[in-house]
Amino acid sequence: MSESPQCTRCSGIFCYPNIAADERPSFDEAPPSCPTKLKRDVIEKALSNYDKEDIREFARLASVQEFECYEHTPAGIRTRIPRIEETIQFAHKNGFKRLGLAFCSGLANEARMVADILERNGFDVVSVCCKVGAVPKERIGIRPEEKISGPDLYESMCNPITQAEILNEEGVDFAILVGLCVGHDSLFIKYCQVPMTVLAVKDRVTGHNPLAAIYLSRSPYYGRLRRRVQA
Ligand code: SF4
Repeated sequence: MSESPQCTRCSGIFCYPNIAADERPSFDEAPPSCPTKLKRDVIEKALSNYDKEDIREFARLASVQEFECYEHTPAGIRTRIPRIEETIQFAHKNGFKRLGLAFCSGLANEARMVADILERNGFDVVSVCCKVGAVPKERIGIRPEEKISGPDLYESMCNPITQAEILNEEGVDFAILVGLCVGHDSLFIKYCQVPMTVLAVKDRVTGHNPLAAIYLSRSPYYGRLRRRVQA
């Protein structure tokens, strides 16, 4: 079997080199698992998508937005704005007027604050909670003993496909995810037909900052992450 791409095992200096604008990167010393070397055909095919006018413009604006998230100071390059402002600026750049918020019921307060901020910044906001439809979990085969609140209580399923379909039907220009669970977010992304971004991911034990556990994985606190052998 041919080698799999393994960018995580590379320093990254070959595809993001510190060279002059008129020079070209060299991959002579890049590892054999380098996808820039292994996947020329895929790279060319993927690049052709940027020839579509709307895709090219979207990509261009995303990179302009990326640029505007930094500033040059006498002390060097510094970061400027948090992700919520990045999202607002990007939405304005694209001329988006109507934004869709798909949020988790566990982050309802955060979603209200996000909606308020977006509205104060001139957007029309449509929001849909994950429990929309109030469909019991039994509908997707969840057993009583698998319900979080216990077997004797009604429990609505998370309904990310409906969240996506409502935002599709509402004709939002851009969808923003706030705190959907792993897997539920996958379904939302699969069914959402408008451009979307993730403002926040859910992490129940780190204040929705999954990298906190990653940062601590080389310490005693979350060292178990590196010891665990997955079945
Ligand atoms: S594309 Fe190649 S050079 Fe770039 S990080 Fe991946 S392996 Fe390294």
